[in-house]
Amino acid sequence: MQTIFQNADVITMDKERRVIFDGAVAVDGDRIVEVGKRNDLIKKYPTFELYDSQGGIILPGLIDCHVHMAQAMIRGCADDLSLIDWLQPVFRCQGSYSEEDGRLSAELCILEMLKSGTTAFIESMISSSYGFNGIAQAVDKSGIRAALSKTIMDLPPGVDQEVISVPESQREKKEATLAEAVAMREKWEVAGGRIQVWLGPQPFGTGITEDALREVAKVAKERNMRVDIHFCEIKKDNEYFHKMFNLKPTEALEKVGLLGPQTLVIHAIWIDEEDIINLARTGTHVAHNPSCNMKLGSGFAGIPEMIAAGVNVSLGCDSGPCNNTYDMFREMKWASYIHKGRLLDPKTMDSETVLEMATINRAKVMGLADEIGA
Ligand SMILES: [Zn+2]
Repeated sequence: MQTIFQNADVITMDKERRVIFDGAVAVDGDRIVEVGKRNDLIKKYPTFELYDSQGGIILPGLIDCHVHMAQAMIRGCADDLSLIDWLQPVFRCQGSYSEEDGRLSAELCILEMLKSGTTAFIESMISSSYGFNGIAQAVDKSGIRAALSKTIMDLPPGVDQEVISVPESQREKKEATLAEAVAMREKWEVAGGRIQVWLGPQPFGTGITEDALREVAKVAKERNMRVDIHFCEIKKDNEYFHKMFNLKPTEALEKVGLLGPQTLVIHAIWIDEEDIINLARTGTHVAHNPSCNMKLGSGFAGIPEMIAAGVNVSLGCDSGPCNNTYDMFREMKWASYIHKGRLLDPKTMDSETVLEMATINRAKVMGLADEIGA
């Protein structure tokens, strides 16, 4: 289909950050062929069908960089609780999922994302118990673009875990989780396709050993796979790194080989200036989830400080029970407001910065900056 979407102002997010008033976007099949002034495009593509955007705004599809699809179906199951207490009912619900439940929850999540302008996302942890294939099929069928991370873990059942207990039904062996991640990648990540498969190790101290994290780094390097990992979400996470490694959090991550441009760290709240320098130095990406961090009382991530240091920061809604929506417009508002309040500075986290976090910065995380986000 060849269409010109016209009668709109176009926010391009291109290198010059052009905003085209009375603009239009010409589309041929699934590719944008040109963006420009309405009259110029109508003249240049006379056979294209005209779509009236009714004076609205056209902007790049938003990219949600941290999503738990399996939790879409259980929003409202845990309110007014801190992370550890919140995880208990959430894990109990997720732990009882069948593969059919996993697929239905993914479909519900994708529907909400598409309806609120999100066209790509990164899912951080898919457990085998709720079915990787069904979730990938839901993505494939919907038309959305996704990076799907397979959970990687290696502690056997019954092992005392430092921070959070993973439910019995979701415990997996290291060899099996890594093998499944690689197999799912062979199956679903095809050239020109919309699905990437990533490695999603459990966070430090919650079902994964140092050896397994080293192996994740090795597989990621050998197979050119990307990795996302929850990181320093609560104060206790930071204390864990000092207690177990006698290192700063980013130093421990670097020690196991996981700092670098292939890694997206999620939250990064309880870190200091040196950690921020380490993230910037290594090109490690950060996912900021302000609604979740506020709802669970986890703390304020130093996002303006990270941006100033040169860290690529992107934005995510996280999950149903810790956000109550998968709506990136609401997330952009939170990202802008909470840091203005924290720093007593209304100029910080201006609209353009936040829109970059929801579009082009995220595309960089997925390695797709030439394809999407602008
Ligand atoms: Zn999360």
